[in-house]
Amino acid sequence: MTTKNTLKGKTAIITGSTSGIGLGLAHGLAESGVNLVINGFGDPDKIEQDRKALEDKGITCLYHGADMTKPAEIQDMVSAAHNAFGQIDILINNAGIQHVSKIEDFPDDKWEAIIAINLSSSFYATKHVIPLMKKQGWGRVVNIVSAHGLVASPFKSAYVSAKHGMMGMTKAVALEVAEDNITVNAICPGYVHTPLVDNQIKDTAKARGISEEQVINDVLLKAQWTKEFVSIDQLVGTAKFLCSEDAANITGTHISVDGGWTAA
Ligand code: NAD
Repeated sequence: MTTKNTLKGKTAIITGSTSGIGLGLAHGLAESGVNLVINGFGDPDKIEQDRKALEDKGITCLYHGADMTKPAEIQDMVSAAHNAFGQIDILINNAGIQHVSKIEDFPDDKWEAIIAINLSSSFYATKHVIPLMKKQGWGRVVNIVSAHGLVASPFKSAYVSAKHGMMGMTKAVALEVAEDNITVNAICPGYVHTPLVDNQIKDTAKARGISEEQVINDVLLKAQWTKEFVSIDQLVGTAKFLCSEDAANITGTHISVDGGWTAA
């Protein structure tokens, strides 16, 4: 990365960063010298181990346990980050859950949780960081959406709705802050082998009455023309690019990292 693209000394909040893609993004940004606020659920000892491992990369890392279904806790996380670092340069809206079920059996509480965690939490976090970014005169919002923000699959009505909503919000907010040196973009990954996908493999096998191996080969990787899972490192590289000065005129759009899925 060239000097004008350096992220060293910037501060990022990454929601849902105790696992999978979010934790990978935290390590990637830490390696670029970005101070972090990580967030998400999990075993407190493991979270503390991860926080220390991130600080071992030479940055300061705080953990905030905000529940992404609770607007007041999201606001508190943004305030805590700002109080600690005096700046918030990057927001990565990443927290997300999945539930796979036929629409007629889809539990109401799962619908509500998916809309809250996968969509509304991004609204609240973005709403609270934008005034700070405007004051600083620089900001990057990166929404971890999904190929399911662009196309649908059956049995994922809540997830597909939330992710399409996130794409709409990405575009609307990007236009609002376009003259403030703030960009708002989405990354739309195909399948990445994380705990979220592991659970989905089990649930999809049940919903479709097929084996887990069939789900991997005939459902997940069928859509992915490279026949490979997307790697977390590839998403880290994409996020760093969107945060760089080279991407200053990329806003209100998405980068698909999906092995060709949405080209078909
Ligand atoms: P993951 O299950 O490994 O991680 C999800 C993270 O969100 C965890 O840190 C978890 O603690 C956190 N989280 C869940 N509920 C929360 C809540 N109420 N409050 C705070 N944190 C909460 O999943 P992942 O695969 O790393 O997914 C991360 C994001 O990437 C999600 O938005 C997902 O939709 C998206 N995505 C994943 C894939 C994939 O194939 N894995 C593909 C496209 C998009």
